[in-house]
Parts: sequence; structure tokens; C-alpha cells
Amino acid sequence: MDTNNKIADEELRAQVRSWLGENWTQAKAASLKQHQPLWGASDELKSWLAEVVSARWAAPRWPTEWFGRDLSNKQAKIIEAEFAAVRAPGTGQDRTNLWANTLLAGGTEVLKSKLIGPLLQGEVNMCLLYSEPNAGSDLAGIRTRADRQEDHYVVNGQKVWTSGAMTADYGMLIARTDWDVPKHQGISYFYCPMKQEGIEVRPLRQITNESQFNEVFITDALIPAENLLGNFNQGWQMLQTALAYERLIMGEGARGPRSGGNKKAKNVEVLIALAREAGVLEQPKLRQDIAQMIAYKKLNALNGARGKADISQGASSSLMSLGKLAMSRILHEEARLRTEILGPGSLFEGSDYSDAENANFLTFQAYLTSIGGGTDQIQRNIIGERVLGLPKEPEVDKKIPFREVRAS
Ligand SMILES: Cc1cc2nc3c(=O)[nH]c(=O)nc-3n(C[C@H](O)[C@H](O)[C@H](O)COP(=O)(O)OP(=O)(O)OC[C@H]3O[C@@H](n4cnc5c(N)ncnc54)[C@H](O)[C@@H]3O)c2cc1C
Repeated sequence: MDTNNKIADEELRAQVRSWLGENWTQAKAASLKQHQPLWGASDELKSWLAEVVSARWAAPRWPTEWFGRDLSNKQAKIIEAEFAAVRAPGTGQDRTNLWANTLLAGGTEVLKSKLIGPLLQGEVNMCLLYSEPNAGSDLAGIRTRADRQEDHYVVNGQKVWTSGAMTADYGMLIARTDWDVPKHQGISYFYCPMKQEGIEVRPLRQITNESQFNEVFITDALIPAENLLGNFNQGWQMLQTALAYERLIMGEGARGPRSGGNKKAKNVEVLIALAREAGVLEQPKLRQDIAQMIAYKKLNALNGARGKADISQGASSSLMSLGKLAMSRILHEEARLRTEILGPGSLFEGSDYSDAENANFLTFQAYLTSIGGGTDQIQRNIIGERVLGLPKEPEVDKKIPFREVRAS
């Protein structure tokens, strides 16, 4: 028994198992499987999440005041294991819900009371308003501005590569609030309402032929003052917290293939099955590559566990950069192996060639992890500087007022 907790492990396991037995019916499981929109939660999922939240299973590590149970990481994992065993979604959001975790870490009481519950229940759609046409890797170079006027901020500028902006109710936005201090010091972090006149969303077409990215044009958009996260002009610190959550999530996994074909396609065993079917499983170099792939995945899972243990004890989160970088390498390598196994057949398209479609989709999709949330090169910089203690890159504009920094 964990003496810091009020409940013994076995009692907790029995409780969650019995709750799932009563509430996670076969009908619910089947209806959730059927309705899975790409953006936003389906009505079936929302209604299930409402049950999970009201039973306090959604974020068990969080304080009781915010839908949690104040449980240790170890006990929260017992709950996650029980949900996973019956494939029920909704728990573990104290690790995986970027929006709710960031809000809990820095939001005002007014905003937390308004949005944390709906965020856990999938009732609110969100997006990230960080990147700008001339500020991606160097996010501290943003030029979107927010000016305080009475009880709200007025925002003007442009964002780009904004995933999910077309359905979002709020965007987590960084904007410049002081132009007379160095670039990292004059930024603030907001929850920006998206459904308003001052926000125009224009979709962009991707290499996968999907349109999840958008340009967002912001003209005199209004943000209530209570939607500021963290302290005024200290948005850079808030951003680091949010990015650490994002890297943790991206380092743990990625989206699987788009089309039918092999439903267990995320699993490395699929590579073995594909190679057997293509008659190339006996090739020694291919066998070696597949074995290496398994080793990469296992090592990354261990590294992720180490990073999470550090974070739970309040230590630095630079290990998350290592996990995200490793996942990026794994995804590119997996796509390359699938293509190599299929050979010229990997060029086919259409529903009769789902293996080839999946290989191509994964090849393009791998760039999501190696660019989104900070590119591989930027993760290498972070690892070099914060994990290995190497000297920082020279930054000529770091100490001068942002107003004097030349626009690129
Ligand atoms: C799938 C996906 C989803 C995304 N979703 C969002 C979103 O929802 N919201 C949002 O705000 N943004 C989003 N982005 C944008 C993403 O965060 C940026 O594309 C990324 O930070 C890189 O910025 P950039 O495109 O401006 O490239 P740049 O910063 O211009 O970089 C160009 C190249 O130069 C390299 N580079 C730049 N600086 C350095 C350096 N100091 N050291 C070494 N190499 C360097 C980079 O690694 C890259 O290869 C998304 C991107 C992708 C791919």
C-alpha cells in the first residue's frame, strides 16, 4: 500500500474495475468505435467523457478541487491499466490533455472554473496560435500584438500552420505585449476565443491531401483580461510549460495509417507480417532493420518513463525533447521500411492497395512529428544545451529591445 494515499492499490483496482463493468457497456464501446470524427469529439464520446469526469477517473493525479483524486502516479497508472484492458477512453488526461494541463498550470480561477470541466469532457475544441510567417523555430520573434484596453486585450497579427483552427472554440495564443524589452520578456500567453468577427481562418492544403492546417488572420480580435495565462509579459515561461506537455504527448506516439488495411498497423509486428507476405522476411539486412526498429521503440518507451518520473518530481523536462526526436526517427524509419518491403508495389494507390497507401501516408505523416512542436534540429539544440551542457548558439538580438530587432 502507498502510505501517502487514502486507498490501497487493490481496493482502487477493484473500484475502477467494478465501475467500468457497470458503465462501459458493449453498446457504448460499439457506438464509440463507429463515430470517430477527425476533429473534435463525437456526441457519443462527449457523453462517455462526461461520465468519466463525474466519476473522477479523467484526471486522477489532479487535486480533488479540479475533478481529480490527488492520487500518486503509481495509482493513476492502475486506473489507466484498467481502462486500457477494456479499451475505454477518457482517463490519463492529467498527462495527455495539453489544453487542460496548460490551463490548470497557469489559468485564472475564473477561466479554470469555466473551461477545465468542458475541456476534459471534449466539449471545447482548441488550437495552437504560436507560429507566424516569420517566427517558427524562433518563436520569440512573434509580431502579433495584444494591447490592453480596459477589461480586455485587442489583438492584431497573423498566425500560420494552425492545426484545427477551423473548428476551434479557443486558441492558445502568444502575442507581444511589450516592445521595449528584449524579445523573450515582452510576450504574454492567452486563451483566445476563436468564434468572433476579428478572426479569419483560411485552410491550407497538405502533402497528404488533407486540410488540417490553416492561416489565421487576426484583426482587432478581443480577449477578456481573465483569459491571460501566467503573468503579464511572462508568456515565454508559460509557453515552455505548454511545449513540454506537447513534446511529452508527441514523444509517446503518433497517428497511425489513414486507410483500412491492417488494423494493427501501429504495431511493429505488422512489418514482420508485411515482409512475410512479400516473401522478403529471410533477407538478413531487412531482419536486422526490423529488429533495430523494435529496439528503438523499446528504448524510447523507457526514456519516456524516465522523463515522466523526472517531471513528476519537479525536475527539468528536457528529456521530452529526446523522446520526441526519437519518435520522429522511429516514424521515418518505419515508413522507409514499409516502402522497402513493398518495393515497386509501394507506388500503387486506391482501396485495393491499402498497404501501399498506408506506407505513403506514413512517409508524409512522419514529418508531422519532425516539424510540429519544434523541429528535430531545435530538439537537438535543446538536448545539446540543456542535457549535454554544450555552449548556447550566439543570439545577437537576445538582449536588445524587441522594437530594435530587424524584421526578416
Ligand atoms: C503537422 C504540423 C502541425 C503544426 N501545427 C501547428 C499549430 O497547430 N500551431 C502552430 O502555431 N504551429 C504549428 N506548426 C508549425 C510548427 O511548429 C513550425 O513549422 C515549426 O516550429 C518550424 O517553424 P517554421 O516552419 O517557421 O520553420 P523555420 O523556423 O523557418 O525553420 C526552417 C528550417 O531551419 C531549421 N532551423 C531553424 N532555426 C534553427 C536553429 N536555431 N538551429 C538549427 N536549425 C534551425 C529548422 O529545423 C528547419 O529545418 C505545425 C507544423 C506541423 C508540421
